[in-house]
Amino acid sequence: MQILTLKEINKKYDQAKDFAVNKVSFSVNEGEILALVGESGSGKTTLLRLIAGLEHPDQGTIALGGQVIVEGKKSVPAHERKVGMVFQDYALFPHLTILENVLYGISKPKKEAEVIAKETLKLVGLTEDHGKYPHQLSGGQQQRVALARAIAPNPRILLMDEPFSNLDALLKDQVREEIRQIIKMTGITAIFVTHDTKDALSTADRIAILHKGYLQQIDVPKNLYENPVNPYVANFFGKRNELIANPSEDGFYTSFGYIADPEAKKYKSKVRLMFRPEHAEVVQREGQQLTGNIVKVAYFGSHQLVKISDEQGYSVSIRTNPGRVFDNLGNAFFYLWKYDIEEAF
Ligand code: ADP
Ligand code: MG
Repeated sequence: MQILTLKEINKKYDQAKDFAVNKVSFSVNEGEILALVGESGSGKTTLLRLIAGLEHPDQGTIALGGQVIVEGKKSVPAHERKVGMVFQDYALFPHLTILENVLYGISKPKKEAEVIAKETLKLVGLTEDHGKYPHQLSGGQQQRVALARAIAPNPRILLMDEPFSNLDALLKDQVREEIRQIIKMTGITAIFVTHDTKDALSTADRIAILHKGYLQQIDVPKNLYENPVNPYVANFFGKRNELIANPSEDGFYTSFGYIADPEAKKYKSKVRLMFRPEHAEVVQREGQQLTGNIVKVAYFGSHQLVKISDEQGYSVSIRTNPGRVFDNLGNAFFYLWKYDIEEAF
């Protein structure tokens, strides 16, 4: 069941400039957590503001919960859209208590509203803190108040703009998991914006990636990482090695040796073989593999990165398990078990 559908959404702030959002179409399923990723200026916040009703698109339609909320000049006002928002800086009212902050958006009789607010604070694990003020709470707790305030009125969708960007790295992993669990417990549909691929890959059910206002790909994390539709998406989700290769009838010639591949005959001129560090393997024995010199082994606890160089000093990085021992940094053999072929020039 789709709860939100955007069709061909265009938005320009300034006629002299490019579109901030360009022909964007996608749907979000009920109960799904969607991450919206992209570099700074790619249109993420604009897209959230269009859904929330804080901006109106130049073109396109938006439907939410079976109701068309944007079409041509028609626009259901923000406060009637039943959209919950969590802002990057949380935007809590400093002079109101935690309970009062959560009560703020609930338009119900006082008694009933209080029951809902208290239940929601319980859900986010803040039962003890009703009477405190925002400044008395940690960053992670403040964020849970902001979340409680957004979900207490029972919105049709929850929108969060960079919810994790103000948290330090240690806290972030924990908060990210807590927020995910709270959202999943309530069954609420959520879209969160992030520029951090780790946030997106670990938290979202699906990820939509924007570049210069265009939607590049929307898919489950694994597919975005393993089967990116274009080089931009591939590079956004982590480092790739690049090998310049000359195609022949039955394989590619590279500066590390020959790779047998029937795909090669499809190419007339130089190509780039692009592969992630985990898509290659360092092997013991000489054979049909590529060869080079190990120039560095960097240990990261969970894995190692082995840097292998060709005769001209050009190197690639290959991921290995952390227990693997490389005594002498000398000759090494490796093979690629997955790579993308891109036209080089
Ligand atoms: P992101 O959230 O991905 O960083 P934004 O949606 O904030 O991207 O911005 C997309 C583009 O729109 C950028 O080029 C930005 O400069 C421009 N933009 C955003 N908000 C405004 C505004 N209120 N007025 C004019 N230009 C804006
Ligand atoms: Mg933004």
